[in-house]
Formats: sequence, C-alpha cells, structure tokens
Amino acid sequence: MTTLKRVDVHVEGVVQGVGFRPFVHALARRLGLAGRVHNDVNGVHIEVEGALAGVEEFLTALERDAPALSEIERVTVVSARPTGHNGFTIAAGLPSGPLRPLVRADGATCDDCLRELADPADRRHGYPFINCANCGPRFTIVRGVPYDRPLTTMAGFGMCQACAAEYHDPGNRRHHAQPTCCPACGPRLRLRDARGTELCGDPVAGAVTLLRAGRVVAVKGLGGFHLAVPAADERAAALLRGRKHREEQPFAVMAADLAQARRLCEIDEHAAELLTGRARPIVLLPRLPGAPVAASV
Ligand SMILES: [Zn+2]
Ligand SMILES: [Zn+2]
Repeated sequence: MTTLKRVDVHVEGVVQGVGFRPFVHALARRLGLAGRVHNDVNGVHIEVEGALAGVEEFLTALERDAPALSEIERVTVVSARPTGHNGFTIAAGLPSGPLRPLVRADGATCDDCLRELADPADRRHGYPFINCANCGPRFTIVRGVPYDRPLTTMAGFGMCQACAAEYHDPGNRRHHAQPTCCPACGPRLRLRDARGTELCGDPVAGAVTLLRAGRVVAVKGLGGFHLAVPAADERAAALLRGRKHREEQPFAVMAADLAQARRLCEIDEHAAELLTGRARPIVLLPRLPGAPVAASV
C-alpha cells in the first residue's frame, strides 16, 4: 500500500487573476492527487495529498510550470495529516485577515481573444469587453480581495449559461476567468451626446463618424475616460487642448498596431517589445519627419 502524504501549501506573490487556481487544479488532477485550492487574502492556499512521489512532483512543477503571468514570491509548505478524501476542487475564496493588493495589473487583449473578436462566427464577434484568463481587466475592476467575481465591478453581471459553462470547464481558456462575459450577459456600449441623450445606431460606427467630423469623443474605459480626437486633425487637437486647459501636456497617440505606429515614429526592438507586450504602456518615441500628427498633439 502506498503511503499517503498531505501538505498545506501557501503561495504568495502575484498569483490571483493569472489562472493560478486552474493551473493547480490541472496539475493535481494530472498527478492523481486529491485536495483543494482557493484564493485567500495574501495569495493562494493549496491542500494536496496523494502518493509521496506525486506530491513531490507537484511541489516541483508548482514553481517550474506556474502560469506565465504569475510572479511567485514565496512558497510555504507544511506537512499535514492525510484525510483519505478523493478529488481535487477549486474552492471559493475565503476572505479574512488584513488585505494585501496582489492582484495583477490589467492586461492587453490576447491574440486568442483578438481572433474571436474578428471572427463573425464567434459569439463574441465585435464584443468590446472580450477577455479571458490570459488577458483583460484585473486590478482596475477589483473592489477587494480575494480576487473573485463578487468582489469586482463585474459582480452585477450574472454569467449566462454559455459563459458559466466556459468558466467551470478546466479545459477552457476562460476557466475561472473572473471578468468573463459576452454580449448576452456582460456590459454594453452606448453612445451619448453632450447632453447625455443616447444616440441610436451602432455606438462604434457612430463614434468613428463623430471622430472623422473632428468632434471630441470621450471613451469610457476601465479606469476612466479617454478624450479622443483624430491625431492628424490640428483643429480638433487644438480644440481639445483648449478645453482641457493644458498648454504643455503631450497627448498620447493611439495606433491600431505596430505597423501603423511605425508610420508615425522611430521604433527600435525594445520599443516594439513594450508596445506589443501585455502591459501596453504609453511609450515615448521619436516622431518621424512628416508623420501625420497634428502639432497640437
Ligand atoms: Zn484573452
Ligand atoms: Zn455570457
């Protein structure tokens, strides 16, 4: 008979909102181990038991194969008495103790989500709030820890059946993706005029028409509003600058992709990496002579 080994493992670092619990779940199942995993206020807590070799392999793989977006700071392992229970489960977060913000920063939409966004056959085709366990909002939507949907700004959006099925499927890219949603159950876009009256028609197409006409469009994003004008339109850029009462502040230019950005600025390898990385920061770049960007920008 195999000797059972049980350990309590506590993982600290950036381990919430990065697909860590599904990773632990899959790893334990693969190694035939029992137990459970849950988020707590300062990380992820795992109870795992099974054959000694399996538990040892689990502890090695836990750090070696951790999800790309996680940053493990510390792993604490304590031996415990085996219970003989079967199965491995993902338990809901148990809030207690002092809060430490260890939720990941928001991440740019991943390639898989972009593919779905552009796919007319996908149920999230054209849906601007598309996200998955590998991308999307994190820190900005968090109202408390542990990082679970009830403590995010998505709490008011109940998942539809299709989204819930993905959320609970360990083989799905949206397994335990807290902000997952779709056109049937998630937030929707609206376009309003300056008086707050909702304009009919497609909000994106409507915004594009307004921008092309040189109007200022306020785009409500995850963390606030972007005030947008066409970057090449001097009159519109000057209008926005005047209204903001900012004479000196540089404006950020949004580009659809790297190819478009290369037509505006000098971009070296390091800058290209920053511009396409998960964080998508604003990058200060030398402007190309003759780039179609208004002087007021
Ligand atoms: Zn994604
Ligand atoms: Zn849905």
